[in-house]
Amino acid sequence: MNLETAHLALKKFFGYDSFRPLQKDIIQQIYDGRDTLVLMPTGCGKSICFQIPAVTLDGVAIVISPLIALMKDQVEGLSANGVPAAFINSSINYDQQRRVEDALMQGHIKLLYVSPEKAVSQGFQPLLKSLKISLFAIDEAHCISSWGHDFRPEYTQLKFLKNQFPNIPLVALTATADKLTRKDIVSQLGMRDPSIFISSFDRPNISLKVSGGQRRFEQIVEFLKQHPGNSGIIYCLGRNSCQILAEKLNAKGFKADYYHAELSNQQRNKVQDDFINDRTPIICATIAFGMGIDKSNVRFVIHYNLPRNLEGYYQEIGRAGRDGLPSEALLFFSYGDVISYRDMFMQSEGSLEQKELKIKKLERMYEFAEAPVCRRRTVLAYFDEAYERDCGNCDICLNPPRRFDGTVAAQKALSAIVRSQERVGMNMLVDVLRGSARREIMEMGLNQIKTYGAGREYTFDDWIFLLSQMLHLGLLEIAYDAHNVLRVTEAGKKVLFEGKTVQLALPQPKEKAKKAAEKQLPEFKPKSKTEQLQDELLNLLIALRRLVAQQKGTPPHQVFSDVTLRQMAEKRPLTDAEMLDVSGVGERKLQLYGDAFMAEIRRFVLEKLEEGQRIIGSSPFQTYSLYKQGRSPQEIADMRGQSLVSIMNHLATMYEKGEMFEINEWISPEALDIITGSLSLFPEPLQLKEIHEHFNGRYSYDEIRWAVAHQQRMQFQESRKTRLD
Ligand code: ADP
Ligand code: ZN
Repeated sequence: MNLETAHLALKKFFGYDSFRPLQKDIIQQIYDGRDTLVLMPTGCGKSICFQIPAVTLDGVAIVISPLIALMKDQVEGLSANGVPAAFINSSINYDQQRRVEDALMQGHIKLLYVSPEKAVSQGFQPLLKSLKISLFAIDEAHCISSWGHDFRPEYTQLKFLKNQFPNIPLVALTATADKLTRKDIVSQLGMRDPSIFISSFDRPNISLKVSGGQRRFEQIVEFLKQHPGNSGIIYCLGRNSCQILAEKLNAKGFKADYYHAELSNQQRNKVQDDFINDRTPIICATIAFGMGIDKSNVRFVIHYNLPRNLEGYYQEIGRAGRDGLPSEALLFFSYGDVISYRDMFMQSEGSLEQKELKIKKLERMYEFAEAPVCRRRTVLAYFDEAYERDCGNCDICLNPPRRFDGTVAAQKALSAIVRSQERVGMNMLVDVLRGSARREIMEMGLNQIKTYGAGREYTFDDWIFLLSQMLHLGLLEIAYDAHNVLRVTEAGKKVLFEGKTVQLALPQPKEKAKKAAEKQLPEFKPKSKTEQLQDELLNLLIALRRLVAQQKGTPPHQVFSDVTLRQMAEKRPLTDAEMLDVSGVGERKLQLYGDAFMAEIRRFVLEKLEEGQRIIGSSPFQTYSLYKQGRSPQEIADMRGQSLVSIMNHLATMYEKGEMFEINEWISPEALDIITGSLSLFPEPLQLKEIHEHFNGRYSYDEIRWAVAHQQRMQFQESRKTRLD
């Protein structure tokens, strides 16, 4: 098998012109029969890496996938592209499984998705042995590792695949990159001398922002106002908070729903469906949501609480912008989150070692949120990826912090901690520094200490900002085992007693911060006429997609992705060939949906032309509209500076596509009859010259062109009828 075939299949089935980086190399390895490990971030096109070998090689590819929803979506997606695929898991009954097995035995299926439980079950082994298998693909392969964050014990039994089928290539794929997991995958699956591909984990289209956790709700409302109508997920820590947040957002006029593990299966499916089908744009959810959802146009992911670790964070924000269009990740963080996680981890099952690991990872997460360093650099460094510049697309890059000599501020805070005999937590410390008259402060006599009210020059939020940096720098620590009171560390004592200096990032004055935030918004630029037309058409196409999806009972993204619709609105394809040129339109989708979308585009273009608008890039239409205004072909040729032949060709094209007008002035009914009657003699594609010669020049090229157009028009209408049946 060669890459030429792979390339043709990519175009034919998926409608894409070229492979993305690494895809080609990975496919080559599989063709060479090598075991392969693929580490690629979400949305970068892992599936194509095994789907193309699966459709081009003999036999059936067995794909192990942990999530029923994901399997279903992938199988639907493949079927929509004309690739025969099926799944076997606990969601189907005995009869359905029998039907799949029959189809398999007859060699009708190119990809079989199986849950790990099914794959390792005794009952499945005879079937597996009787099939001609092209390859094994282990999706979400990190589930095999107890170091990973989605450990699935059944995965560890998958070693039998390599034992029993040593010569069939196995490809393991994951979006989780850490080294331990990587090693585990290779050894636990018994992969033999695998080729390893690690793609860049950068997702440059996702802009990364981190914000302090104060007034989160107001911040979210502000954010949503700036992104009207966009789809997005807001991750919350607790089940209650999902529901409360969704209710509050609804009260503010946003359409939001919530999702968590305690809802019934049916409720969860509904929420998920409404999200995928663009009926509910905003979902407030626990992190269970989003796994296995293949929705390419998620425009933002907000973390209402700090994620537990950077792997989780990166995987969750990776659900945004799979279509490559600009998207946003917004993270809120506060100490409260760290403290609740710590308690949760300490009370959880597992060895002390595991708990400590969890806490370490949490600390890294926290450091990420707090460090005034380019976010992308920090997170990619965590995944061992060298990224030696500032990204320009994160909050730090867009608004770099200024530093100042924070020694005095730090001393005030440290002194207040010591003088309060290390009895206060973060909030109380700030209240002391700002001289608050809170009852507890009075009761504890903290209004008597020397530093009471010594920090009034900073607001409450500023103090939190400064203290968090001090914590990060190791000047103070939180006694998690003693009601989270603050303690001064050895390093802190050096600042307090020995005058060691400290550089801190400057808190920004409110007004300035607001201005800076505004600066981050894209500048408002009025749209050009062309862009306006494009938007208008795009909206029509989106509406059509929704209608078509409803009729077919599939999610809209299974019809066409946003990227595909955008390209359609831009290129305005009017012929099959032009349609196939649009990324994401393969042969099957052309056949299923091409006419409906071309008809919509045609209608739109004609309407605009009739309104007298100039619309570029559709020559036949321009000619046609002038013709309908009563100009003769010769006049049009003169006006447009084109040859008469081209103009006639434009008109013939419009006629082919079903526009109604009289052609008798160019060809008599008799000539039309005779020429069309003979066309079946000639090979496709029809050559005018051959036909001309066949009739010894009795008919002109124009006449032949019209006869051909007439024939094509008939065929076009015929094919349309059958397609609609
Ligand atoms: P992953 O499994 O890595 O999360 P997917 O396989 O779902 O990613 O691919 C993400 C998106 O990119 C899908 O919409 C997919 O169709 C698209 N895609 C994949 N490969 C290509 C390609 N070579 N050209 C254009 N689009 C592609
Ligand atoms: Zn950056």
